[in-house]
Amino acid sequence: MKNLVEIKNVNKTFAIEGRSAASILENISINIQEGEFLAILGPSGSGKSTLLRIIAGLIPASSGTVSYLGSPIEGVNPGVAMVFQSFALFPWLSVLENVMLGLEDKNLTKAEKQAKALQVIDIVGLDGFENAYPKELSGGMRQRVGIGRALVSEPDVLLMDEAFSALDVLTAENLRRDLLELWLDKKIPTKAIILVTHGIEEAVYMADRAIILSKSPAEIVKDVKITIPRWRDKKSPEFLSIVD
Ligand code: ADP
Ligand code: MG
Repeated sequence: MKNLVEIKNVNKTFAIEGRSAASILENISINIQEGEFLAILGPSGSGKSTLLRIIAGLIPASSGTVSYLGSPIEGVNPGVAMVFQSFALFPWLSVLENVMLGLEDKNLTKAEKQAKALQVIDIVGLDGFENAYPKELSGGMRQRVGIGRALVSEPDVLLMDEAFSALDVLTAENLRRDLLELWLDKKIPTKAIILVTHGIEEAVYMADRAIILSKSPAEIVKDVKITIPRWRDKKSPEFLSIVD
C-alpha cells in the first residue's frame, strides 16, 4: 500500500528566549497508509500538537521531512485538514460560513462552496443549524462544525488534536461513535485519520494502530497494531446503551 503521509526523521527544537533551544521531538518517523486510523498517544507536553502542526505544515520541522503522496511538503500540507481541541470557530460567522472557511483556498464559486458546505453540515448532523452562530450551539455541536470545516475540503487525511477532550463524557461518546460510523461506513472520502489523544481507552476504541510518544523530548516508544474488535463488532458494553 502506498504511503499517504511519510514523516521521516523529524526533529523539532524551539528557541526559547534567554535560554538554549529546547528539543521537543527527536527523530520521529511514521508512515501513514491508506485505510489507517492512527492514534498518537503521549503525556501532556510531550509534543503531540507540535507533531500534528508539523504534519499539517503549519510550522516547519527543524530537520527531517514530511511528504504527502511521495513529495516533501513545502508550507501547508495540501492533503490534510485539522480539527482542534478548542474548536477554533469564528464566533462572528454562522455555521455555514465557518464550514465554508474550509474551502477558502479552493477555486470554487461562492454558490459551489455553499452547496458543498451544506452537504457536509448534513453529514456531521447539523442539518437545520446552518444559520446558527457558535454561541447558540452546545460544545458537541460546535465540534461538529469543526469537523465539518475539516471534512468539507475532502482531505485525504483528517488530523484531530484532542478533538473530544473538551466535551462532557456523553457528548464526547456520541461524537466518537458518529465519526467512527462515518469512517467505517465510508460515508466520507477520508483515506486516513490521525487522532492525537492522551486517552488510551479512546485510542483503543477508535484506532487500529497506536503510536506512543515518550515525554519531551519525545521519541516513539511504541508503534502497535490494535487488534481487539471495535465496539460495534462485538456485543456493546452495557453502558453504551445510555447514549443511544
Ligand atoms: P502536547 O500537545 O503533547 O501537550 P505540545 O506540542 O503542545 O505538547 O508542546 C510540547 C512542548 O513544546 C511543550 O513544552 C510546549 O511548551 C513547547 N512548545 C510548544 N509550542 C511552542 C512554541 N511555539 N515555542 C516554544 N515552545 C513551544
Ligand atoms: Mg496538545
